[in-house]
Amino acid sequence: MKDPATRLIEQIRLDFEATADTTGLQSLAPEVEAALTRVPRHHFVPARQQSQAWDNTALPIGHQQTISQPFVVALMTQLLNLSPKARVLEVGTGCGYQTAILAELAREVFTIEVIPELAESARERLRTLGYDNVHTRVGDGHAGWPEEAPFDAIIVTAGAPRIPASLEEQLRPNGRMVIPVNSDWQSQDLVVATRNESGELDCQRVLAVRFVPLVGKKS
Ligand code: SAH
Repeated sequence: MKDPATRLIEQIRLDFEATADTTGLQSLAPEVEAALTRVPRHHFVPARQQSQAWDNTALPIGHQQTISQPFVVALMTQLLNLSPKARVLEVGTGCGYQTAILAELAREVFTIEVIPELAESARERLRTLGYDNVHTRVGDGHAGWPEEAPFDAIIVTAGAPRIPASLEEQLRPNGRMVIPVNSDWQSQDLVVATRNESGELDCQRVLAVRFVPLVGKKS
């Protein structure tokens, strides 16, 4: 019998192939695959969902929030084009799974979560797993993390009506932002925004996705 991680990677590979037309990504990158294999997803999933921990699906984590589908985590990560030197901002820590994947690939990860209980348990979990290049904060991610800006990459893991202005300002020239932007009342388009030489954002819509809403300030 195949181990759960191998089975999950196979499913993610198929999802990459099925979406290549719109994402522009032909296949799962080896370094993202390695990160998905290394991060123990069962540590991020509540006891009740343990039997599904390595399934290619989103799962509930309490507080009406979810752990994202592994394919979507892989896709968003790969779209960020991270270098090992990258400093990354994440908005929406949740259980910290995406955070850990980023921490495997980048130099430093700054992550913000608005629900204090989730932020605290993610912080503890990431510390226990040895991710000492992760910095956590409780608060409204609309404001970003100005003291640590600019960032090489910004990832937002909740759906927003538009790209928050502060996050745009905190992206380094040639930096990349991946964010689900609302297309109707309950789904979003995953958008890749690249900051060009003149400081403007070039936006590309890559896939229809469904995330929980980004709450708090509308900007
Ligand atoms: N990244 C997670 C998925 C997070 S779900 C994973 O790896 O599975 C989205 C998270 O965004 C939720 O925990 C939610 O509480 C948080 N969130 C929503 N609005 C936010 C805001 N304005 N600032 C920070 N976090 C926010």
